[in-house]
Amino acid sequence: MFSISYLILALAETLEQRWETYRERGDFDQFVEFTLSLNGLTEQLNNQQLPGLVRACQELENTALSLFATPSAHPIPVVRANAMERQLNVILRELRQHETPAVMARRGMDRIKKYEDTWNRPRKVMIVSRINHPWMLALSEQLSFFGFFPEELRWGAQPTHHEPPLATIFIPDYEGKAYSPQAVAGVMALRAHFPTSYFYCLSVPADLQSIVLLQRAGADACVPASKQISDLLSRILDMVDTREQDIHRVLVVEDSATAVAHIRRSLWQYGIDSRAISDPRNLLDAAVDYRPDAILMDIYMPFCSGVEVTSALRQIPEYQSIPVIYLSSETDLAQQVEALRLGGDQFLTKPVNPIILASVVKTKIERYREMLYSGRHDGLTGLLNHSTSKLMLDHMLKATSTNGQLVVAMIDIDHFKSINDNFGHPLGDQVIRSLAWLLRGRLRNTDLIGRYGGEEFIIALADADLVRATSLLETIREAFSNLPQNHAQGSVHATFSCGVAALPHYCTVSDLIGGADEALLVAKRQGRNQMVLAPLLNT
Ligand code: GH3
Ligand code: MG
Ligand code: MG
Ligand code: MG
Repeated sequence: MFSISYLILALAETLEQRWETYRERGDFDQFVEFTLSLNGLTEQLNNQQLPGLVRACQELENTALSLFATPSAHPIPVVRANAMERQLNVILRELRQHETPAVMARRGMDRIKKYEDTWNRPRKVMIVSRINHPWMLALSEQLSFFGFFPEELRWGAQPTHHEPPLATIFIPDYEGKAYSPQAVAGVMALRAHFPTSYFYCLSVPADLQSIVLLQRAGADACVPASKQISDLLSRILDMVDTREQDIHRVLVVEDSATAVAHIRRSLWQYGIDSRAISDPRNLLDAAVDYRPDAILMDIYMPFCSGVEVTSALRQIPEYQSIPVIYLSSETDLAQQVEALRLGGDQFLTKPVNPIILASVVKTKIERYREMLYSGRHDGLTGLLNHSTSKLMLDHMLKATSTNGQLVVAMIDIDHFKSINDNFGHPLGDQVIRSLAWLLRGRLRNTDLIGRYGGEEFIIALADADLVRATSLLETIREAFSNLPQNHAQGSVHATFSCGVAALPHYCTVSDLIGGADEALLVAKRQGRNQMVLAPLLNT
């Protein structure tokens, strides 16, 4: 299967950024960086045996090299630059067709802000099965319920279009048996058609040979027969969540231009994005602007030492735990220990081996992200937790323009205690999770969804007018009340009540939350399973 590795996508992203920088500033130095970047991408494509793309890159590289001889000729004339940009865009477009679903979702998320009708995200999931397979029917129903667009395909049939579904799910004819050679061939044929879709093969027996064969055919995940549909759904929803796929960003604080060039090139070779500053006094501005995941800090710099900067940085709450990796020619062990004691995470000695640098940086960043994630998210639902929800609401409010729109809703599940009491805590948990999924599936990636308390949720919709937002919430309320919550003896239905407050009538975080909470109480008093709008105050 030839889906493009994340490294290549990171390289492509860097390449595009370098080109944009060159077009903005027009310096020869940036042109050299762009060409180096292009060269690295070509090498990687060569490794992955993608001859068409390699050829396109080499042509562009040749054009670039022909402009190397005369630094003073930069910026090159607009006509030439435009021609190069066309070549570059062909390459980038081709690469993006092979993006993994997670990267696509991320890109989609950036794009989504621009669309008017952003609640209708095209999240297609293809289900391959025999006609009327009961699982297919159940899966289709659940997927559409949680905001996906399921599409059915018979085993052996050709899809009618080329637009890759986010995920493709295979349901074999015989449960828990090894896939037949025809079925394996079917997976393989579809893989050639949709190189980037995430493939789930259901009901795969726990037998290494079967799994290996399916993986070779293009399966990304083999789901054992014992797994339930709800597990599959949560995996698909997590896939849409793209936190791990974010590019790694490193801020290099280093006064020597040579060291900067070496470090940035090393990082770039391993798909890590970076930005460099030479004066540590600019660190905070650069951090706000670039949002790094880690800082590489030189020890000896003019004005102040890297150790001083780091210990000052640790005084600022936002940067208390960002990884700081020292780079220095310092070999005195006592000094290194002192530097670490004052707030650094690791000490690397210059000149540093690129492989070690990249792996240290990536490991530190992954741990940091994991820590941030678990500190901000709720374990049961994956939604933002209480304190982060409030913090995010504050950010959203600050980012809203004077006449901007913001709608806040508080949701509380009705008679939840009796669900726990009558059917047990596990079913209670499942009810909470299903509401979380429903919200994640139906709202935009730019909306805030938080678990505010046990069975209470907070939602904030930016750029949403009240009419639109309330009708959406009504749809969700109705959908939730229709969702059967299955338990051992049968199924029950849960409902929720909802209170809504919006700008401009409620204009601070506590007014918005307070207003929505009051309205929620009214909804409860009036009989539950309903939405109530907070009174529109005179503003
Ligand atoms: P109302 O319609 O007025 O909201 O009634 P209610 O029963 O939903 O409200 P109440 O606040 O009396 O009960 C909420 C219950 O939710 C109490 C608590 O034990 C339960 N709960 C809180 N967190 C969890 C959780 O994570 N899982 C489960 N299963 N139950 C939880
Ligand atoms: Mg120095
Ligand atoms: Mg309740
Ligand atoms: Mg409650």
